[in-house]
Amino acid sequence: MFECIIDKFYETRDASDEVLKCLIDLSDSEHLYECAMRRRREFYQDDVYTRGLIEFTNYCKNNCYYCGLRAQNHNVERYRLTPEEIYECADEGYALGYRTFVLQGGEDRYFSDDMICEIVRRLHSDHPDCAVTLSIGERERESYQAFYDAGARRYLLRHETANDAHYGKLHPETMSLEHRKQCLWDLKDIGFQVGSGFMVGSPFQTLDDLVADLRFLQELQPDMIGIGPFLPQADTPFGDRPAGSLKRTLNLVAILRLMFPYALIPSTTALGTIDPKGRELGLKAGANVVMPNLSPTRFRKLYAIYDNKICTGDESAQCRHCLEKRVETVGLRLVIDRGDVRR
Ligand code: SAH
Ligand code: SF4
Repeated sequence: MFECIIDKFYETRDASDEVLKCLIDLSDSEHLYECAMRRRREFYQDDVYTRGLIEFTNYCKNNCYYCGLRAQNHNVERYRLTPEEIYECADEGYALGYRTFVLQGGEDRYFSDDMICEIVRRLHSDHPDCAVTLSIGERERESYQAFYDAGARRYLLRHETANDAHYGKLHPETMSLEHRKQCLWDLKDIGFQVGSGFMVGSPFQTLDDLVADLRFLQELQPDMIGIGPFLPQADTPFGDRPAGSLKRTLNLVAILRLMFPYALIPSTTALGTIDPKGRELGLKAGANVVMPNLSPTRFRKLYAIYDNKICTGDESAQCRHCLEKRVETVGLRLVIDRGDVRR
């Protein structure tokens, strides 16, 4: 019976809230994953894109209740990469075959707009065939415009949850969903390829919240959609909460692929952390991007957004080769490519 419903979803690329809720919690998901694989293949063949992740600062002024980098966590040793260290990470990544670099960090105002622009310009001039992606949280529209003018073309900013009340349970009052959404619309308006997304199984999340997340993404039509299970970090207010479910996350990856066939969907590190084969399973459910770490090994453990994060001891070359093998085990291939969206 459910096969017919999934086939209809495959055709129409949309479903009612009730059907979406059933699919999110589907127990026998084989057909759903097969359909998602088929759709992914139509748009992206067997290609899996890589993004070299450079976690350049773990300072953050915010206090999201779920994240180990929150300002009030005094148990984490803070670090910042120097611009030179960032360029070295990118050079190493380029030699390994990366053609997209993601600069990610906490909201750290030490890195002024001018500094970020300077870094973006330099990465561009060093590697003109690469795309530079920023993931540095909420800033003013003028700042985003300056980053764009400096050559950044992609920006990752998960909305985290599309339900206002739920957002309020995950963040202090100083933060708002309205502002987060405004940032996403501004980024889009400026011309960025925008990535959004949410955590699966964050505290207090309901099935209705997840449907609201999907509906918001339908409105935003982002180029990239990143999701991963919530994972507790011991030094946060949610340190004793249970992790999100692997199965729900995989079902949602497949649902996203069917709703947004063109999207770049990473099989995230959080998926690989919750299960040793999590990233392979994510690819089998329709994901088409992996984001291995290019940060210097001595800092990786300090970027402790959640506990037990994988790949914190490996060198960049090891990460690349390990992922290449993992991707091959599910019949796909890592490609050397900027990995632009195919609409
Ligand atoms: N400061 C930036 C980027 C770094 S955080 C920002 O917040 O946008 C990157 C992502 O990590 C967040 O968007 C969030 O979805 C995810 N994250 C944070 N804490 C997490 C946790 N405990 N478990 C799983 N994902 C988490
Ligand atoms: Fe800072 Fe991002 Fe963590 Fe929130 S999720 S505390 S903004 S690093």
